[in-house]
Amino acid sequence: MLAPRASPANIPSVDRLLNSPAFETLLARYGRTRVVTDLRACLESLRQAAIAGTLDADSLSDEAIGSRLRAQLEAGTAPALRAVFNLTGTVLHTNLGRAVLPEEAADAVLQSMRAPVNLEYDLVTGRRGERDTLVEKLLCELTGAEAATIVNNNAAAVLLMLSAVASRRDVVVSRGELIEIGGSFRIPDIMRQAGTRLVEVGTTNRTHLSDYADAIGPRTGLLMKVHTSNYEISGFTHSVSVSELAELGHARSLPVAADLGSGSLIDMTRWNLPKEPTVQETVAAGADLVSFSGDKLLGGPQAGLLVGRADLIAKLRKHPLKRALRVGKLTLAALEPVLALYRDPDSLPQRLTTLNMLSRPSSEIQAQAVRLRPIVQTAVADAYAVTDAPMVSQIGSGALPVDTLPSHGLAIRVVKGKRGSLDRLERLLRGLPRPVIGRVNDKALWLDMRCLSSADEAAFVDQWRKLAL
Ligand SMILES: *Cc1c(COP(=O)(O)O)cnc(C)c1O
Repeated sequence: MLAPRASPANIPSVDRLLNSPAFETLLARYGRTRVVTDLRACLESLRQAAIAGTLDADSLSDEAIGSRLRAQLEAGTAPALRAVFNLTGTVLHTNLGRAVLPEEAADAVLQSMRAPVNLEYDLVTGRRGERDTLVEKLLCELTGAEAATIVNNNAAAVLLMLSAVASRRDVVVSRGELIEIGGSFRIPDIMRQAGTRLVEVGTTNRTHLSDYADAIGPRTGLLMKVHTSNYEISGFTHSVSVSELAELGHARSLPVAADLGSGSLIDMTRWNLPKEPTVQETVAAGADLVSFSGDKLLGGPQAGLLVGRADLIAKLRKHPLKRALRVGKLTLAALEPVLALYRDPDSLPQRLTTLNMLSRPSSEIQAQAVRLRPIVQTAVADAYAVTDAPMVSQIGSGALPVDTLPSHGLAIRVVKGKRGSLDRLERLLRGLPRPVIGRVNDKALWLDMRCLSSADEAAFVDQWRKLAL
């Protein structure tokens, strides 16, 4: 039997509803103005449905209207920036915020938000301080550099370094290192923006020390090396090392800079990860300035770190761009505990979240995928087939795409003859309270489990149980 239909004449009044007990908590939570506006819109759509004859009489109870309004208010006030599950297989995913920070960093950020902090205040002398000094000592201790400074991101660090050291001068760079990083960071563009003149030397595949030497003239202000993070030239190749370039630069009284990109502070091969030049070895090789990112392999907040010769770092600090590009207290609060973890390299894989994810053994990831498979299969029911499968993760954020990590996860495919759709499933997962982001490839939705921490597993499972397909 058809449920009785609602009549437009029975739509309750705004005033009566606002005084009904069902609305008390909504008013307390969202405020009268907002509730009244949304309630009017809600009643109007109910009126239209009643006129069309498609509305059940039950939908007009105070409780039914209250819960409809609650859903509307909740949807309208959800924050735009939300936690997601990164099951893309790319650990340092720029679009998903790169490094996930360790607990220590999260705690420090909270503290720095809740109370005034000595951001630029020297607690010993009681005088005005310099915000960089909060992490400078640690950076020098870890890298062997004389001094350090910090800006908003590594692109800013490169811009500042070029502007402060080589403005209106020539900067000599190998043709093989004129890279573009995602998000429109191109070395030639940054050079122009900094007011320097780019002098390209060598060829795409081979550059020799003599190429740099021949390019040095009276206008030369800097010799620079850029880490070709995201691409690789192999075959008949040659490039000049930092130490060779430093020797040349210093013989000609020219500073030598290196943009390391990821800039690891530790030899990653210890954990079977690809070899990355470390900041320490670049400083030791004689580079006068080294720049690197805070939120790539370092595993910290977005930041551009610069270490090197004290006189050059002082020059960067005095430059007006430093003021424009400086970091806030939240960044410094997060960075300090992350750097401090590097004092004990042996415990890093347990304590540094990104390294923990990067170094997870595939057998452990496989066990997790096997454990989760039946739960996901039950949730998606018989229109989809869920299998656990080996996969390859990527480091991401400027690491080489060819450097992959063996991983494991779930592959979801539409069962032939059933009315499943990967598009629809993907959309549904994106619409969850904590969206699940995988990747569609080869007629399957792949969910790489490398970045699903054991702490997050229960919340992940809970969402699948509530999934309405
Ligand atoms: C990633 C990268 C940059 C840009 O760093 P951000 O921190 O993303 O601004 C610059 N240079 C190199 C070599 C990089 O790999």
